Amino acid sequence: MTDTHSGGCQCGAVRYRITGLLGHSGLCHCRMCQKAGGNFGMVLLTTPRKQFEWTRGKPSEFASTPVTVRGFCDRCGTPLYMHETGDENYEITLGSLDSPDIAPPVDEVGIESKRIWFDTITTLPGHSTTDDRAPEDLARLVNLQHPDHDTDG
Ligand SMILES: [Zn+2]
Ligand SMILES: [Zn+2]
Repeated sequence: MTDTHSGGCQCGAVRYRITGLLGHSGLCHCRMCQKAGGNFGMVLLTTPRKQFEWTRGKPSEFASTPVTVRGFCDRCGTPLYMHETGDENYEITLGSLDSPDIAPPVDEVGIESKRIWFDTITTLPGHSTTDDRAPEDLARLVNLQHPDHDTDG
């Protein structure tokens, strides 16, 4: 049996499929991953190029170093991958997978750039969306995001 995993951007213009065993999943704290993700860093899933295919659309790329490109959807801006020249792997953004829980990160890299508040974020008080939003608020928040599965057209 062959495992397949799908993913894509928020608007659905770009979709991909990973076939076979999943690679290493790690959290990168480097400043470039912070900027590229607009966040504290990125969880990236190492995926051999031969196990990876675009199934809808194509991403745009930004060269963040002379040998590194960052792929993203040019319609909605979702970060999708990092790739270094000569590397046989893509580094796929874990959150762009339809099932991000399938590959929990196993280590952290770039820790010299870790935000000083990162280690405490899991101890912050938590609220669910329904705790913070009134029912009429929630009714307006219609989900326009592409669903977490492949679709026709
Ligand atoms: Zn998109
Ligand atoms: Zn990084």
